[in-house]
Amino acid sequence: MDALTQTPTNDATDPLAVLRQTFGFQEFRGVQRQVIDRVLGGGSGMAVMPTGAGKSLTFQLPAIMRPGTCVVVSPLIALMHDQIDSARANGIRAASLTSVDTNREETVARLRGGELDLLYIAPERASQPGFRNLLAQANLSMFAIDEAHCVSEWGHDFRPDYRQLRPLMDEFPDVPRLALTATADAHTRADILAQLGIPEDGLVVAGFDRPNIRYVIRHRDNPVRQLTDLMAQQPGPGIVYAPTRKKVEDIAAKLAAATGRTVLPYHAGLPPEERAGNQRAFVASEDMVMVATVAFGMGIDKPDVRFVAHAGIPKSIEAYYQETGRAGRDGDPSQAVLLWGAGDFALARQRVAEVEESRQASERTRLDALATLVEAPTCRRAVLLKHFGEDPPEKCGNCDNCLDAPGVTDATQVARKLLSAAYRTGQSFGFGHLQKVLTGHADDRVQQKGHDQLSVFGIVDAEEAGLLRQVARALQARGSLVSTEHGGLALGGDAREILKGEKDVEIVLPPKRERGRGRRSSGAGLNPVGDPLFDALRELRREMAAEAGVPPYVIFHDSTLRDMAAKRPVSMSDLAGVSGVGAKKQEAYGEAFLTVIRQH
Ligand code: ADP
Ligand code: ZN
Repeated sequence: MDALTQTPTNDATDPLAVLRQTFGFQEFRGVQRQVIDRVLGGGSGMAVMPTGAGKSLTFQLPAIMRPGTCVVVSPLIALMHDQIDSARANGIRAASLTSVDTNREETVARLRGGELDLLYIAPERASQPGFRNLLAQANLSMFAIDEAHCVSEWGHDFRPDYRQLRPLMDEFPDVPRLALTATADAHTRADILAQLGIPEDGLVVAGFDRPNIRYVIRHRDNPVRQLTDLMAQQPGPGIVYAPTRKKVEDIAAKLAAATGRTVLPYHAGLPPEERAGNQRAFVASEDMVMVATVAFGMGIDKPDVRFVAHAGIPKSIEAYYQETGRAGRDGDPSQAVLLWGAGDFALARQRVAEVEESRQASERTRLDALATLVEAPTCRRAVLLKHFGEDPPEKCGNCDNCLDAPGVTDATQVARKLLSAAYRTGQSFGFGHLQKVLTGHADDRVQQKGHDQLSVFGIVDAEEAGLLRQVARALQARGSLVSTEHGGLALGGDAREILKGEKDVEIVLPPKRERGRGRRSSGAGLNPVGDPLFDALRELRREMAAEAGVPPYVIFHDSTLRDMAAKRPVSMSDLAGVSGVGAKKQEAYGEAFLTVIRQH
């Protein structure tokens, strides 16, 4: 590793020059420059940026420009080690001081000697008096608090240890603090600033859009086939979220059998070694699919995840956005596919009834927002961004509904008929029975219950009958029909308003084209298929990654290999013009890659 741990001499005082020299990127993205300038000016700040927007660079770059060491607080050791690998590959001097590190003495010596740009620690360390003393002996350039929402009880991942950071940092009042989070909620943001002692004018909020992610939301008709189709379109790494351990195992086995690709499970019930092994395999892989519960989460910093699929509804729009945000951090086209069923909503709504009463209303609002998203006939991205308080364009051009506008039909009459059938039969029969009553199908059970005598018997004509199942699904999603304990359907939510004609029900008809299978699309990615040079560059990347003991993306991203295959640099100076090739990587890998290019 030694060759990778020395900082290239950065005499430059211009952040853009350092960006090009050290990171090999041509331009700053989004609000990166704004955040960096604040810290370089000695101010404290907080960057709210969506996953994949490039938060790490906003502290790594000032850390190498300012004299001294930047202390980075990060909640997960796995996450730290990934970041340290990537930083070192760019020639940044980075180390961690955690319970699992065996070279702690060496790291302490490097810190004292001013030989570290970045020192990663877990929040627990902040409360140790010895650590405070150690920092007092070092020269500190700044504090970076990653996943800063962990400091707030309002956030979704409160960590009491984060509360110890403020007293520690207050001991070093002249050292700038930079908090980083992807949390969108304004309430949580204000709390983070207060808890970490960062002035309000230091808040920088990036737009939440992730334009390279294509959102696709479908009814779950045949999940294994739907997921197999997705995998056929997306040869790269992917994550499938499933709601239970059993479903994880089941889907993983079926997808592996159907596609022949490596598909591994991940859930809290697996032995820890197997779970960690599967995660390592995934991080290192260029084509593996991980089927997981949401336990597979925050620690995944893999930039080349090409799809995130949900085999059932997520907990909330916030959770959905965070989980889908794990796709395409590298900026290449990626897909987020959500497969939902009416049963998911029925179950979730039943659970709401079981939580404390004070939380029920907000839980219901969460589910209603999700129902609106899955049933929306309009741009998915617009629905999502509006949910986060943005004012997006009406159409994005990169979601299922923008690409293939669905039909919308007024189904208020059918909905009223279905709701009255549920009501008149005593709110204890399932969909199949209601369908028979409404379409005038008098089987034994219908006759035995006397339901052929009801006013709703046979009131649905053939055309309406075709919409019944979908209307039932839509009503269940929005909570107007709820499942009873024994599998019957009862009225709920706004059912009475629909019956009284005070509310309309529109349903979305899937576009005809989509009913066909496996449409290939630009979502399939940008990597050339069958280009011998590109394949050879990837092969070399794999070898170098194995040798260095790091995932392939730490050597170079796919976009860098594509750029190389297109530009065919023949000299070191040509190579420097390729995006993602900084000085350190040029020195470490340049000759080997040039040799492969010359041979093709
Ligand atoms: P976040 O922590 O916000 O999810 P990361 O810091 O992991 O995002 O960055 C996401 C990816 O974007 C990384 O692979 C990083 O190398 C890349 N990246 C960051 N800044 C730039 C930039 N200015 N130009 C090109 N790529 C960038
Ligand atoms: Zn759209």
